[in-house]
Amino acid sequence: MNPIFSALSTSVFEVMSQLARETGAVNLGQGFPDDPGPLDVRRKAAEAVVDGWNQYPPMMGLPELRQATATHYKHWQGLDLDPSSEIMVTSGATEAIAGALMALVSPGDEVVLFEPMYDAYVPLVRRAGGIPKFVTLRPPHFGLSEEALAAAFSPRTKVVLFNNPLNPTATIFSAADLDLLADFCIRHDAVAICDEVWEHVVFDGRRHVPVLGRPDMRERTVKISSAGKIFSLTGWKVGLVMAAPPLMKVLAKAHQYITFTTPPNLQAAVAYGLGKEDGYFEGMRADFQRSRDRFAQGLTGLGFSVLPSVGTYFLNVDIAPLGESDDVAFCRKLVMENGVAAIPVSAFYDQAAVRTVVRFCFAKRDATLDAALERLADLRRAGTAA
Ligand code: GLN
Repeated sequence: MNPIFSALSTSVFEVMSQLARETGAVNLGQGFPDDPGPLDVRRKAAEAVVDGWNQYPPMMGLPELRQATATHYKHWQGLDLDPSSEIMVTSGATEAIAGALMALVSPGDEVVLFEPMYDAYVPLVRRAGGIPKFVTLRPPHFGLSEEALAAAFSPRTKVVLFNNPLNPTATIFSAADLDLLADFCIRHDAVAICDEVWEHVVFDGRRHVPVLGRPDMRERTVKISSAGKIFSLTGWKVGLVMAAPPLMKVLAKAHQYITFTTPPNLQAAVAYGLGKEDGYFEGMRADFQRSRDRFAQGLTGLGFSVLPSVGTYFLNVDIAPLGESDDVAFCRKLVMENGVAAIPVSAFYDQAAVRTVVRFCFAKRDATLDAALERLADLRRAGTAA
């Protein structure tokens, strides 16, 4: 057995969802919305299953989806992408990340990672033969610094794997952070693999700024997006990859031997969805923002210390003021005794874990959030009594 994978435990998302199912807890752990997603997009997929093509689609993705992707990112992010040479469809963003690492990293190459980071990153980097070099981000801002980047980059740096907006912190890197990162990539001749799956889930009037569009990054960036996140259909696993032709040629080689293609009916529905009017995307953001505010106000009212959330489906709570110092034990107790599943943020660190932050998913109906708040009120009452 390969030691990298045999040594891994089950992903924290699966563990917490399983515990939530077993105990009947309100599941605010794994990040997925209660809402079933836009009906017209789901209908397009259903129609495409019944009436459309169900054999292998083209390896790079349906031409209509690649065109829709180019049009969408021109409109929303000002990117000029050639659909025939700079866009590829994968079976989810995770496939795109795995493929990009396989395609760009050779054994012994160094890969700069920013912790807290998505739990798949480190095993995939190691399996590709890469040597992870960590930049540790700290609450409450989780921003970059010149010193931290200088300590992580070296002449052996080949790739940086960068997630913006950042899961689990619900923060967005500033334009100055992006420029600093770009500067290091250019100086070290490194490629930035940018996991931008949360790009549309940003609040308070913010607009996502893609690394691919920064000066001099056009030729050294792989942009990865996710239809699952754009349309709140997390089970669809339709990823979109954007990169300049010399990079895309090799990314395509990895994709052709990992999944080769992605279900054509879902691709057709995503092509339709990407062209939806601005109001859909703005409405989606407004709905999530309202849920964020409802849940944040509820938590604050109960005396929890809530960290700012400016994007993603997540809201973090600092448990240090509650006298807690072990987020894993806190989350276990929360799901077993209080009936609310959450995610310990230490699960997103490899080196210098922050152990006093807990992540909740607020992309839920009011009734779900209110049920969770009631249970959290019990926890607070028990805490005060103790
Ligand atoms: N992206 C989801 C989250 O952060 C988890 C996906 C998964 O379960 N692997 O909660």
